[in-house]
Amino acid sequence: MAATDSSQALSPLRAQYLQVKRSCPDAILFFRLGDFYELFDEDAEIASRELEIALTRRDFGRGERSPMAGVPHHAADGYIARLVNKGYRVAVCDQVSDPALSKGLVEREVVRMVTPGTVVDPTMLAAKRNNFLAAAVVGRGAAGLAYVDITTGEFAVTQFSAVEPELAVQQELARIGPAELLVESGGVPSFNPTLRSIRTGRGAGATSNPAAGSPGHRAGEPFALHTPPDDDSSGLPRWAEGIRESVRHITPYEARYFQEESSRERLLRHFEVASLEGFGCAHLPLAIRSAGALLAYVEETQRGVLEHLTSLETYSTERFMVLDPHTRRNLELFQSGRNGGEQGSLLWVLDQTQTPMGGRLLRRWLSQPLLDVDALNARLDLVEAGLRDVPLRAKLRNYLDRVGDLERLANRCIQRIATPRDLVHLANGLHAVAELQAGARLPQDPALAARDGGATKDGAAAIAERLAALDAAPEAEALIRMTLVDEPPAIITEGGLIRAGFHQELDEMLAASKDGRQWMTDLERRERERTGINNLKVGYNKVFGYFLEISNSQLSRVPGDYIRKQTLSTGERFITPDLKEYEALILNAHEKSTKLEQELFVQLRADLAIQYAERILATARALAELDVGLGLASVAERWNYCRPQINDSTTIHLVAGRHPVVEQAQVETPFVPNDTNLSLDEQQILLLTGPNMAGKSTYLRQVALIVLMTQIGSFVPAEAASIGLIDRIFTRIGAQDDLATGQSTFMVEMVETANILHHATPRSLVILDEIGRGTSTYDGLAIARAVIEYLHNNRRCGARTLFATHYHELVEVAQLFPHVQPCTIAVTEEGGRVIFLRKIIPGGADKSYGIHVAQLAGIPRQVIHRAEEILEELEKKGAERVRRKAMKEMAVSPALQLMLFGGERESNPLIEELKTLAIEEMTPLEAIGKLYELQQRARRDSPPA
Ligand code: ADP
Repeated sequence: MAATDSSQALSPLRAQYLQVKRSCPDAILFFRLGDFYELFDEDAEIASRELEIALTRRDFGRGERSPMAGVPHHAADGYIARLVNKGYRVAVCDQVSDPALSKGLVEREVVRMVTPGTVVDPTMLAAKRNNFLAAAVVGRGAAGLAYVDITTGEFAVTQFSAVEPELAVQQELARIGPAELLVESGGVPSFNPTLRSIRTGRGAGATSNPAAGSPGHRAGEPFALHTPPDDDSSGLPRWAEGIRESVRHITPYEARYFQEESSRERLLRHFEVASLEGFGCAHLPLAIRSAGALLAYVEETQRGVLEHLTSLETYSTERFMVLDPHTRRNLELFQSGRNGGEQGSLLWVLDQTQTPMGGRLLRRWLSQPLLDVDALNARLDLVEAGLRDVPLRAKLRNYLDRVGDLERLANRCIQRIATPRDLVHLANGLHAVAELQAGARLPQDPALAARDGGATKDGAAAIAERLAALDAAPEAEALIRMTLVDEPPAIITEGGLIRAGFHQELDEMLAASKDGRQWMTDLERRERERTGINNLKVGYNKVFGYFLEISNSQLSRVPGDYIRKQTLSTGERFITPDLKEYEALILNAHEKSTKLEQELFVQLRADLAIQYAERILATARALAELDVGLGLASVAERWNYCRPQINDSTTIHLVAGRHPVVEQAQVETPFVPNDTNLSLDEQQILLLTGPNMAGKSTYLRQVALIVLMTQIGSFVPAEAASIGLIDRIFTRIGAQDDLATGQSTFMVEMVETANILHHATPRSLVILDEIGRGTSTYDGLAIARAVIEYLHNNRRCGARTLFATHYHELVEVAQLFPHVQPCTIAVTEEGGRVIFLRKIIPGGADKSYGIHVAQLAGIPRQVIHRAEEILEELEKKGAERVRRKAMKEMAVSPALQLMLFGGERESNPLIEELKTLAIEEMTPLEAIGKLYELQQRARRDSPPA
């Protein structure tokens, strides 16, 4: 920084600025000066570049001139949002003493710090999405993770005990998708590493601005820590490298904040309790460390928010179905693979919620499917109730539509940042809740009740239970209505907020000011009459206040009591003692009344926070559930879903199942439904062969999606469904290169497959869509078959499995393994053209129809003909027969078994070596070389039986 620190030499304002800046060197400082937030020095340069605002200079006197940029105070939120989106953190410094009463400088201090995980500005938040700030620590064999949404007050923590704690944390972070993650800083940088956000640039919503570095940085200077680095992972622990996909910004935070004892104390102090037992995390040191760090960060950046973090929920991921990031992506739960948007995802199909709270809850349900039959049935009861009582559902949804975001509005009261308009919205929302309750109590159509018999009664109970949890807090609504005008302005400093009749003193001030203004209005007429000057005017400007203006030609008629104030080219301006007196009255009254209005508003907001916020938040939670349940009922009705039966068996039975997204997305062709029967004792593995484009992938995903929908408590697209609860869905789908990590298609495929074989349990569902595609045919076939054998024979990971492959030779395997059921998709040929019937039938495909598909895709006719000739020749030579025979006899080599399955056997040097291989650092060529070497050694060690 150019300026010196010797404060005596500085102008007082400059000295004050530098002092504030020193308290937050790592943030861009918005410094309030009158109606503007000004930025100085390097902050000004960054802001001018990033926000495209003018860069000027400010003269502080005494020869100091600094770069300066400014934004009007009422528009600051938008500018702050843009900076935060780009990975900067922003400190907002306000005037905290009254300028009118201050002698000398107004006092200023940093009132809030805005970081990606702590934004509160509604324009920066997606309504139906939480904005989470998370913190994580990974220890030996365990990891802790905490997250908070400061706009809703949700604060949760968990601890994993796992062989691979990094993986567990990564998976959970992928579910949560935090806007900002705190990790222990590795202490690498020599400068103060706190509060530095590393923009990963990959997670959802990340803005793309790769060039946002700091070109002006000179070696040896303290680095401007708010600068989003171009490429900086140096401060991160190793495990954090694996989360760049799911986390938008990573902030290394000083390790001392993650310290167990101080974290525990911080939590105890914050919640004012003697033990963390009540929160269920007293014995979870890593959970405590992450929650403690999180709290410290919120304390540091968000004065005023802490108060509304009133509870901490300790949860266990074991209560939920595990969905790893691949599966979430493969099944397109939140984003369509095609366009990356929400359209075409499962969420898109299911989200008929009417409130932002409902939208957020549905997202949460979808990312945390349950493993509890009773809890799921309770959710399904609500959906069923909504489905049966159509008029009631319509009525309730109509009211829900008007409820608004009660949860965030109540939290804005607690945070003391609600605007007058927020409070009016809050009142409107509460009013809608009251109407909803009243509307629901209307007598139901007796004919309908009679028709549905007992079911309606049960259904009504499920809805009634949710309604009983609602509290419209009518006193809160009345208080707001009584205090505020119907359409208040957005800001609180300029008056016009308070309803007439609410406060007598205020009414008097406003009346006085009105009288004064009337007197001024009348003055012009009076003075014209008195002086005979017909063009005499009364005017007002900021410098001189009110005045009487008289043109040059009339100056001779000016009465003696006029006092000359200003000379213009066209005339002169005068004042009178009376005029000054009334002016003072008007201005005084205005100043006092706006101040009083502001005070009354602040009081109202505090009253709401203290007396009603908790009740409103509880209501918001109940509304969210009602909203999600009724939304799911609407989807179920529109698309004719059925209620799934849930049990603890290891079977899946679906009658006429459909793919929920494909059936909606393709309007021209009707969707062909298919049955599914899987059970560990009989058909454990469905081996689905069939030509490309026949519908294999669609079928696989449809089964997985139906299971998933069942376990969030939704009805499902089928005529009947019975699902034995699934602890985890694994998917290995398609071939895609992971360019970001430099892994080849085949490598990615094998890593994912290995993960499945290591982690699947008899309660899991495994979806394998093509295995061994990325390598030579024989390799591919061998691996595919070995995987089937392993899943079939190994009871520890014998999961219900759907396996689709274009290797129709694999069908032979079914003859050897009793729990493998081969099936295919019916195809007919008509006049040389292939028609896909989309119907799953037992048996195997006899042909791959690849050439037909090539034809459909528009490959030139000559190429197609030539391909047919070659195929015929090959078939004549019996290549097919030979390959099939080979399949039957093929034994998978021990080395390959080792690579894929690891060992349930005694420790073996080969296995030990395999475990330590840094596969992710190898090129595909090196990996194959290593594999070859291992194979050679394995063959040496154990000659084939
Ligand atoms: P495969 O995996 O066998 O190559 P896909 O599952 O990708 O085939 O299906 C190809 C296309 O066929 C899908 O995009 C969809 O439009 C259509 N399709 C698949 N299954 C059905 C079905 N059961 N009913 C109607 N259309 C289907």
